[in-house]
Amino acid sequence: MSSTPRLLERGADWSVPCKRRPPALRSLYASTTPDVIWCLRRTASETSQWAFLAFQKAADTWHGTVRVKWSPGHMGIEPNEIADRLANLGTKASRDPDTRPTLAGVRSQVRKRLRGLRTNIWRAMEDKMSRRYKSWDLPYDTRHHPEELEVLTRPQLQRFLAIRTGHGDFAWYHRRYKHDEAELRCGCGRPKTPDHLVMCRQSRRSFGKWPWPGEGPRIRPQTRAEKKEYLRFLMGDPLAFKEFLEVTRFYADICPRGHT
Ligand SMILES: [Zn+2]
Repeated sequence: MSSTPRLLERGADWSVPCKRRPPALRSLYASTTPDVIWCLRRTASETSQWAFLAFQKAADTWHGTVRVKWSPGHMGIEPNEIADRLANLGTKASRDPDTRPTLAGVRSQVRKRLRGLRTNIWRAMEDKMSRRYKSWDLPYDTRHHPEELEVLTRPQLQRFLAIRTGHGDFAWYHRRYKHDEAELRCGCGRPKTPDHLVMCRQSRRSFGKWPWPGEGPRIRPQTRAEKKEYLRFLMGDPLAFKEFLEVTRFYADICPRGHT
């Protein structure tokens, strides 16, 4: 059946001109896929829609003398095997320049271009980011709602973003912008810095309750690099950050914004 070349190429289906059959049944089209049968008989799918519409038009032309049957695949049925071989040949054949783009193909190309566009935009922005922000190695993902917006309260989110950017209730920040009334030190006496919450001796008293990544042994971070690595874990896991604040009560009791 010349009107369904694309379906034949894909191998899931086959058609047999039935010249020896009585005029009442001139051709038989068989498919291994119930979905394909549905599309042939009712609503053509968006993908390869042209092929389904062409089939339906041909079937109408033959005034209902075309029958569609289900043919189970991988059962050694010879026409099915032929269709499989044709499908394999189709995948190896050079692209037909006259073939129109399919909806699925266009969507695939759009997704590919969007991925490239996002990557390029992020790379261009990375050049302008601060070293601190880049150190978190955050992915650029505009397709999902950021988890931190879901799990953190507004004050927790403000602290979270302040640590990421380095702009917030920190000693250097208050000095730079001349916030003369601001408290520059944590309750432990050390200067307020973005990393201090995991370095403060008071918050480290509750180390046994800190959220911990994975199944590895719980080893208290000792070096500055180890503490920084733990903070990286918190910055990549807003739920763990929330738990950390709740078990240490760092911003609530140890280092509140305006403590004296
Ligand atoms: Zn402290």
